[in-house]
Amino acid sequence: MKLVIHRYLPCTTVEGPGRRFCLWVQGCSIRCEGCGVPWTWSKQNGNTVTVEELFREIEKSRKENDIEGVTFLGGEPFDQAEALGKLAGMVKNAGLTVMSFSGYLYEDLKHRAQARDLLACTDLLIDGPFKKDKLDLSRPWVGSSNQRFHFLTSAYKYLESELSSISNKIEIRISKDGTVSVNGMATQEALKELFDVSEFKKIKSI
Ligand code: SF4
Repeated sequence: MKLVIHRYLPCTTVEGPGRRFCLWVQGCSIRCEGCGVPWTWSKQNGNTVTVEELFREIEKSRKENDIEGVTFLGGEPFDQAEALGKLAGMVKNAGLTVMSFSGYLYEDLKHRAQARDLLACTDLLIDGPFKKDKLDLSRPWVGSSNQRFHFLTSAYKYLESELSSISNKIEIRISKDGTVSVNGMATQEALKELFDVSEFKKIKSI
């Protein structure tokens, strides 16, 4: 079974609780106005990989980075729910947690047969489309106030009362060729300001 992906990070601490493998799938049918990652909308721009290949990378990261789970982001994970459901099952069998985002609502996903396995393996689901007029970064990992946290298992239930005390953060990676990649949650203005700082421009040119 295959997935079209945008990219993955073997270990991040800003895309969910603890240290996590994070997978950005490629392709999103929702296309929210103001989406921060419109380059993930078209499936044409992605790389096709098998579920087994991805699971090998997750296992490798578990050994090297002691990750506690995997996060599925997008793009829209539930546009590829069947293949992700298979991967999520493998992740759970390995004793790791699963967190998934969706621009669709949980109430709708529950009625989709294709989404059944992925939902069954998801510990924490964050649902709802990004809404520009409801911009709100006061809760971790989400960009607008309409988005909801569904604790589908007890794994992250403890977070329910702590959400407002968890800050959003970003990670910046600079590769040897000077390519800069950023992940995590910040406003477009904050990112623009960061990349306008002259010191950062120097780093980018290394
Ligand atoms: S669901 Fe997510 S990836 Fe898709 S358009 Fe909305 S914010 Fe962007």
